[in-house]
Amino acid sequence: MNEAKEIIRVQHLKKYFSTPRGSLHAVDDVSFHILEQETLGVVGESGCGKSTLGRAILRLHEPTSGEVWFNGENILTYDKRRLKQLRSQMQIIFQDPYASLNPRMTVAQAIAAPLIIQGLYDARDKEGLEKKVAEMMELVGLAPRLINSYPHELDGGRRQRIGIARALAPGPKFIVCDEPVSALDVSIQAQVLNLMQDLQEQMGLTYLFITHNLSVVKHLSNNIVVMYLGQLVEKATPRQLFSAPAHPYTQALLSAIPVPDPDFKMKRTILQGELVSPVDPRPGCRFAKRCIYARPQCEEQDPPLTEIGPGHFVACHLAGGKEIKAKEQESE
Ligand code: SF4
Repeated sequence: MNEAKEIIRVQHLKKYFSTPRGSLHAVDDVSFHILEQETLGVVGESGCGKSTLGRAILRLHEPTSGEVWFNGENILTYDKRRLKQLRSQMQIIFQDPYASLNPRMTVAQAIAAPLIIQGLYDARDKEGLEKKVAEMMELVGLAPRLINSYPHELDGGRRQRIGIARALAPGPKFIVCDEPVSALDVSIQAQVLNLMQDLQEQMGLTYLFITHNLSVVKHLSNNIVVMYLGQLVEKATPRQLFSAPAHPYTQALLSAIPVPDPDFKMKRTILQGELVSPVDPRPGCRFAKRCIYARPQCEEQDPPLTEIGPGHFVACHLAGGKEIKAKEQESE
């Protein structure tokens, strides 16, 4: 059996923003890799840097430092011309399909636009574009009769299908999915997620799937990374993460997932304490002010990302330690 090839490698990626108060560390020294045709889920609270990470990988936000390797090349060394050529290979699906679509463009125009902008089709090639648009609409399950509709005439699910068609039209290999279903009704979310999974299989796509919803990534991802204030605090397979979360922050996130069983009693961990500012953060664990296991060492030293089991990494001074295990058992 052939081993899956690595398609994305992110090394020590940083994205800082200058603010009047100092340097905001939105993404701070993040490293991981993704294998071809796999999905890496990225989870964490709002403001933890997930979306900035996705945009920095695509260079929609220019990274401050680090490396992003795509198919064996560090794309942070690319000039504008090479970056433009790369756009067709690396795409993004946005959270709010309504905000990301031009209200004056019909479905046909919205799907054709990236093909023309990226130089894959000539705007005068009406016949070629019509054929391609029809093909993409069929692929994402949009009825041909909607071809001349405007975004405001469609529901959220259909608008997101246009967003998916736009991302897929140039023939990418890698897609950043930035909360692609969180703006949709729950009944439509499952349809769009199923569509994305089918398309991944059909077209051999690799996804970076950003969400604050752990239940969504559980079923979709091969691996999951948990982010807290710009840093990666845990990386694991869904099975490892859901059966034995090792970082106290991951444990708190998991304890907040509702279980549809009235007889099931689970101890909820309510996060308390102040949220550390991501502006010029001091050394030490950024979760320390909210962590029930915090000790003096945590306030002084950054916890390194350490492998505590095959493919299971945690950034915590007590990761896998007796103290955390004892607390876990207490709450079972
Ligand atoms: Fe808590 Fe310390 Fe681990 Fe940070 S390093 S999560 S403060 S125990």
